[in-house]
Amino acid sequence: MKEGKVIPVIRSSMPEFDEYVEMIRPLWESRWLSNMGKNHEELTVKLRDYLKVNELLLFVNGHMALELCLQAMGLTGEVITTPFTFASTTHAIVRNGLKPVFCDIKEDDYTMDPDKIEALITPKTSAIVPVHVYGMPCDVEKIGQIAKKHNLKVIYDAAHAFGVEVNGKGIGSYGDASMYSFHATKVYHSIEGGAIATKDPAIADRLTRLRDFGIRDEEIVDEIGPNAKMNEFCAAMGLCNLRHLDGEIEKRKAVFEHYTALLQGIPGIHLCPAQPGVRSNFAYYPVVFDGYRHTRDEVFDLLAAEHIIARKYFYPLTTSFDCYAGLPGFDPSLTPVALHAADCVLCLPMYADLAFSDVEKICFIILQP
Ligand SMILES: *Cc1c(COP(=O)(O)O)cnc(C)c1O
Repeated sequence: MKEGKVIPVIRSSMPEFDEYVEMIRPLWESRWLSNMGKNHEELTVKLRDYLKVNELLLFVNGHMALELCLQAMGLTGEVITTPFTFASTTHAIVRNGLKPVFCDIKEDDYTMDPDKIEALITPKTSAIVPVHVYGMPCDVEKIGQIAKKHNLKVIYDAAHAFGVEVNGKGIGSYGDASMYSFHATKVYHSIEGGAIATKDPAIADRLTRLRDFGIRDEEIVDEIGPNAKMNEFCAAMGLCNLRHLDGEIEKRKAVFEHYTALLQGIPGIHLCPAQPGVRSNFAYYPVVFDGYRHTRDEVFDLLAAEHIIARKYFYPLTTSFDCYAGLPGFDPSLTPVALHAADCVLCLPMYADLAFSDVEKICFIILQP
């Protein structure tokens, strides 16, 4: 490896130090550090408005939000989902005692292929859990129609899709519920954190108790829930970051467009499609190397040699994980489009403060003969 500065794959957005300190200073007075304190309540309302959703509940992280949401829905049997995702999506289904049934993805935007869902539905199917991969919305209309026809719940993994809108509607207003992640690596973060958006007040009510040991009041505990509450320090970070979010997304957009200007039109390099009617959050910059003079793994190594960290996100498919080896249904060859994407995709460094000169350096390395 050559000497030189490292370009990470992501870099968390941060408020000014003093801004955060001002937000947490009152906690030394109130000593109210967790359990639905002032910051928690304020963040709940602000995010509900920002995301244009009916009900919003905060959680300790996105994964617990998803896991508890599946529990709150009372699902049984089989759940149709995608293997082209982060470990969390598949684990949340399995940890609820449900059987994931893997649907293949679309070639253009890596989201669940709605034309392949119905063939997977059996009398045991209770829900569909699609993922808005890289923040690109699933075909929410078609998935909604299929769910309605077969009386299935739809819970979206919207971990990548904070602030994304489709035709002016918040992405979290589709389906029965959506999970957002506010992990430090995401477009918007509260250090660790997550949320469920839902239209269903009964689900929201159940989740309110599930995230706090199932406690209804001082004397009644009527759900078996873990501790999945967001604390005041995380909520304070969330409040600070929300003030600067639109500016951060604008900066991401400029980085995104700079990459596209340099990489588009090159045979063997496939970029994300523009999606009409979508307000994007520019969360990731995935590139598919398919028929290019360098393979994905070669590009990864070329960048690494220059201290540039890219990520093979999502490789491997969750169906290839060691923890699922030999289990029926966990067969990557059943989803050939996803399997191919996992072998060809590379997420390039992407964050608001990424310098244009660094984007140019990255593209120069990729485009070298
Ligand atoms: C980050 C992520 C999660 C989990 O969110 P956490 O807040 O890290 O628990 C779930 N699904 C996807 C697709 C993610 O990228």
